[in-house]
Amino acid sequence: MTEHYDLHCHSTASDGALSPSALVYRAHQQGVSVLALTDHDTTMGLSQARSCAADLGIHLINGIELSASWQNKCLHIIGLGIDPDYEPLATATAQLRTSRLERAVKIAEKLEKKRITGALAGVQKAAGDGMITRSHFANFLLSQFHVSTQQEAFDRYLGKGKSAYVSTTWAEMALAIQWITQSGGVAVLAHPLRYQLTASWMKRLLAAFKDAGGQGIEVITGRTNPDEIKLLANYASSFGLAGSVGSDFHNPVNPWLELGRLAPLPETVQPVWELFDKSVSLVGAN
Ligand code: AMP
Ligand code: MN
Ligand code: MN
Ligand code: MN
Repeated sequence: MTEHYDLHCHSTASDGALSPSALVYRAHQQGVSVLALTDHDTTMGLSQARSCAADLGIHLINGIELSASWQNKCLHIIGLGIDPDYEPLATATAQLRTSRLERAVKIAEKLEKKRITGALAGVQKAAGDGMITRSHFANFLLSQFHVSTQQEAFDRYLGKGKSAYVSTTWAEMALAIQWITQSGGVAVLAHPLRYQLTASWMKRLLAAFKDAGGQGIEVITGRTNPDEIKLLANYASSFGLAGSVGSDFHNPVNPWLELGRLAPLPETVQPVWELFDKSVSLVGAN
């Protein structure tokens, strides 16, 4: 049987709109047979996702999308097949929760200066037990009619260099990769074209990523076009990196970006799932 992979998506444990079980249910409906839940800096959604996946007979991979710093840039590193109980990773996610809360306080203070009140309470309520992200601020600004789209919230307030932007020092990329690989996972550079790097910076990044123990890059995302796929497939081959496939699904209100709706991985690229070890292997699911 051919598996249908989606190895990047978000639940209410971070900035996704669906609970972990609703997300798994939707993935199953969309024909996904192997799903990785990869919430920002948290593994909190995995246990609920796992019990729903077992009920539906869909294979769940323990995932995370770690925020990381490299050369003053913020990058996202996907961990696939991680052990959420691995102590250094669990300690790191607890620390990231605190950093995210501290950042939220500062963002809210900056918004107050713009006479936008109530943001901290608003995002805390919306995030509940989950990680507070800038998406929560964008939704708050939208709900209070300060902006008319999420994009506008980033363009006017939350994006880098904008009035409510707070720069954050995340873990060094090499350390984030270590947390993933030492917990038994495979480290994958998320959406490599989203960082707006020149070709020479991209090559420097991929070399450093590989050097630090990174094993894959996302070649197919919910937004990559055929030219981008070709470019990413070339990068994967030249740097000896495997290719991953993930929609980065957040919310069912965006009909153009659906769970599992992904182009096939080019045949020149080694699929990242070939690197999964026994604990992640598809034999004897869960
Ligand atoms: P954070 O990790 O809290 O800084 O939030 C980053 C999240 O905000 C990303 O994972 C996206 O889901 C969302 N995001 C970032 N930039 C944009 C943008 N320009 N438009 C919409 N959402 C964005
Ligand atoms: Mn997000
Ligand atoms: Mn990301
Ligand atoms: Mn993501």
